[in-house]
Amino acid sequence: MPARTQTKLPAAGLFPITAEVNAKGRLAIGGCDVADLAGKFGTPVYIYDEATIRHMCREFTGAFKKEYPDSRVSYSSKAFANPALAKVIEEEGLGMDVVTGGELAVAKAAGFPAAHLNFHGNNKGRQELGEALDYGIGRITIDSFHEIGLLNAIAGEKKLRQDVMLRVSPSIDPHTHLLTTTGILDSKFGFSIETGAAEEAVKQAAASEHLNVIGLHFHLGSPLFELEPYTQAVAYVLDFAAKMRRKYRFQLKEFNPGGGMAIGYIREKMPPAIAEYAREIAAAVRAGCDAHGLPEPSLTVEPGRAIVGRAGVAVYTVGGIKDIPGVRTYVSVDGGMGDNIRPALYGSKYTVTHVTKPAARGVKTVTIAGKFCESGDVLARDVKVPAIASGDLLALPASGAYCVPMASNYNMASRPAIVLVNKGKARLIRRRETYADLLATAVM
Ligand SMILES: *Cc1c(COP(=O)(O)O)cnc(C)c1O
Repeated sequence: MPARTQTKLPAAGLFPITAEVNAKGRLAIGGCDVADLAGKFGTPVYIYDEATIRHMCREFTGAFKKEYPDSRVSYSSKAFANPALAKVIEEEGLGMDVVTGGELAVAKAAGFPAAHLNFHGNNKGRQELGEALDYGIGRITIDSFHEIGLLNAIAGEKKLRQDVMLRVSPSIDPHTHLLTTTGILDSKFGFSIETGAAEEAVKQAAASEHLNVIGLHFHLGSPLFELEPYTQAVAYVLDFAAKMRRKYRFQLKEFNPGGGMAIGYIREKMPPAIAEYAREIAAAVRAGCDAHGLPEPSLTVEPGRAIVGRAGVAVYTVGGIKDIPGVRTYVSVDGGMGDNIRPALYGSKYTVTHVTKPAARGVKTVTIAGKFCESGDVLARDVKVPAIASGDLLALPASGAYCVPMASNYNMASRPAIVLVNKGKARLIRRRETYADLLATAVM
């Protein structure tokens, strides 16, 4: 075979594992030329790489099984809920978490096995809980005193006893954005251990005839680039479990330290390897159980972002370019906060790659602005790009989690098309919305 010199893709670690500079010198994902995909499906388009999703599923299950054999991985589907994706998740042997009746409907549409579903959320409704019980859902993670009573009553009406987890709040700050921090005292999520609410919840749930409490859950927030918060929180929650065993003979059969594992958005800030999260969490669980003579529970982790974030790439077309001499150059694209609210909501940073010359050096610092009627609608501030012109295509890697699921129809914009690529083939898994879709719910 003749030797082929391949141009290296800069920032490859942010892109899907199959991303490359192809023979034409253009960005390719899953063996598909990205500019060709943009031509075929239009822009903005979100491209998901099946190989990366499967790779991340295997990284997680492999790493956790190695460190803690009695472990499971449950994909947090709010990061990106789609029936085609749910099928891949199921094929890879993961469970799935849902937080609404809508996400449950996606799981049902994919025929996802009910026993491997877990229902989260701080304010699940009566109807949603009923739907989950009717589907035979494996676990419901209870988040409030209101829910203890509500679920016990609904399960009673249906004459069943539901396996439940209790979500506790360990009062630990994981050092991420305040808006994505969930395990501190001042949080709407979970029963606080510190205030005694968690102990009261254990008592009330244990006394509820139609609830079978099998374990404890916490989730610190996201994305967590540090490992230490997991260790602290695991130790604290296992202390609590030991105390509950002494006082009420509470048995911790299952333990779930949540998700929150980070991905790389910019090269300057890369996360620990999945194996490191696994090592840290498994060691903390074992140490906590040893310290208190607790039997080791089965362990479930529930990553969302880390499963799909790196697999997704958003592609936009450049429109107007506004140069304000000495101030800033705005490069406007045909999407923005309507399909990716993260920069506007959290100040999240993204890396920008030119689709048809991905290896070209950056020569100019610009700000990538969206097309929505908000000054805060900026996708990437002060990024270096090669020479750029209207009509060019720009790719934002690490767009697979919490972009499309948080998309809105602000300005009556159509939400983008989503394409799943694998081995040179591209499959549309959600079509772009039409004006008819936008008007479908209007009552004339
Ligand atoms: C959102 C969420 C997760 C997943 O968080 P990621 O950062 O996407 O891994 C896990 N558990 C719970 C309870 C969540 O709300």
